[in-house]
Amino acid sequence: MLQNLHMHSAFCDGNSTPEEIVRIAIERGFDSLGFSSHAPTPFGTSCEMRDSDAYVAEIMRLKELYAGRLEIFLGAELDYFSAEFAKKYSFDYTLGGVHMALTDEGEFVEFDHSAKMSEEYITRALRGDGERFAELYYRTMADMPNKISADVVAHFDLVSKFSEKRPDLFNANGKRYRTAALEALHAVRERMEVFEINTGAVARGHRSTPYPAPFLLSEMRALNCKLIISSDCHDPAFIDCHFKEAKEYIKAAGFDTVYHLSASGFVGEKI
Ligand SMILES: [Zn+2]
Ligand SMILES: [Zn+2]
Repeated sequence: MLQNLHMHSAFCDGNSTPEEIVRIAIERGFDSLGFSSHAPTPFGTSCEMRDSDAYVAEIMRLKELYAGRLEIFLGAELDYFSAEFAKKYSFDYTLGGVHMALTDEGEFVEFDHSAKMSEEYITRALRGDGERFAELYYRTMADMPNKISADVVAHFDLVSKFSEKRPDLFNANGKRYRTAALEALHAVRERMEVFEINTGAVARGHRSTPYPAPFLLSEMRALNCKLIISSDCHDPAFIDCHFKEAKEYIKAAGFDTVYHLSASGFVGEKI
């Protein structure tokens, strides 16, 4: 079963129409596809979808038009701050992630913009302490299931997006970082069980391995988390980028099953 549940289109910050994406998915042999436009937040960041009614209508149209050739799911990528939006539509599934947060002083920071922006936020809002930036991310992640009800945890360690190329921002192998990440994982796992292996940062050249990092993947195994593989794709050329390697990556961590969304929920497939 070839499926990708993390897809962005021109309705948010992707570069292609949903129908162009559907055609490429069929060409590449996909069985099913889920669209997951970025849900609006009160901050109105540049990656959020502007016309959600048109988005929902278009995905529903494609669902019907391509029935029998490609199974299409209507989804959304919710942010910690998207609780209001999530109630507006009846989605087949939702991803839940943390892309931004507020510091104790109420300063707004983003986690996946660019290494340069992360550096600026650390200097301006976190007194130059990069580990505090990572701790803020994981504190927000730990609280996410209390704020939004999502089916899949998206890119659990997104804050480490630039860590390979900019290890000076904070030490993603250090004790403070790992403690914050593991505490958040245990908190999230109490309420959610499906986590995403996300190859998006590999496709965009930021990382050589998918999210999450091996130490988190081992803990996910110990906590019996269920995994899906997705590409967080903004360009359909990368719709299945690094999928084969991702399977090997999770096998090496002791997983023998990968999950897919079906009409009746998530089902496992041996790998
Ligand atoms: Zn995201
Ligand atoms: Zn995404």
